[in-house]
Amino acid sequence: MKCVKCKKEIGNDELFCGYCGTNQAKFSKYLENVSKKIHKEQDKDYNNRVSMAENKLKELETAREKEIETITKNRWQNCGSAPFEYNMTEGKIKINDNLHIFSDVKGAEVVKEDSFKTITTSTGKTKKHVSLGKAVVGGALLGPAGAIAGGVMGKNTSSGKSVSNEVPMCNFIGVNVDINGFFIQIPVLNQNVEQSSPIYNERLEEAQNIVSKLQQLSTTKVPSSFLKPEEEQSVLDYDAKIDEAKNELQKTIDDKPNYEIPESYFK
Ligand SMILES: [Zn+2]
Repeated sequence: MKCVKCKKEIGNDELFCGYCGTNQAKFSKYLENVSKKIHKEQDKDYNNRVSMAENKLKELETAREKEIETITKNRWQNCGSAPFEYNMTEGKIKINDNLHIFSDVKGAEVVKEDSFKTITTSTGKTKKHVSLGKAVVGGALLGPAGAIAGGVMGKNTSSGKSVSNEVPMCNFIGVNVDINGFFIQIPVLNQNVEQSSPIYNERLEEAQNIVSKLQQLSTTKVPSSFLKPEEEQSVLDYDAKIDEAKNELQKTIDDKPNYEIPESYFK
């Protein structure tokens, strides 16, 4: 057998080495502990290297997904807060989450529902109530923006001690869209507001903008082909980086720990 420390040939069953005097059992035990310690350290290092490479890969994959999301999102534009979006890259429109292509649009018009409320003031008391009729006012199919006319005019009546004021209201503004002969409605305002309020004017303008946009899109050529978001250069750049990170991870995994006990432990 060989001495566990100096590796010189010594007789079997020798308790001590004749060259270096080492106690064979004691030094074997010592080496066993050193080996355990080295395994532990090397494994920890190895696992750290692997998980770092894994994290790098995961980060790149997440960033790639985000990039695709951003590209997809940026392709869609809107005219305000109504559930209407259009996509110039792909030639599509989205109404209430349903997809159509530009050429599906055959017409569009603003529709609204007006009413008025009567405020009666009598000797210090004020009563408010909504009364009388509703009026639906539509614009011409694909007509020019601003085709809205009419509305309910306010009027004052006075009898005895009380004065009544009629305030023009609106409880709905929308856009009716003709999609290949089927009508789809885009709600733009869905609450009762006074016609003198900023929200009324904003939403009416938004509805008119949607009609103008639909008019424009209905005659815009639908692109025959377009890049998928995952084909855009910025995503391809991520693909290359991800390939690199995968190779790096495999290399790290293959680079197994070396559990050899360094020479210094034999001195
Ligand atoms: Zn020895």
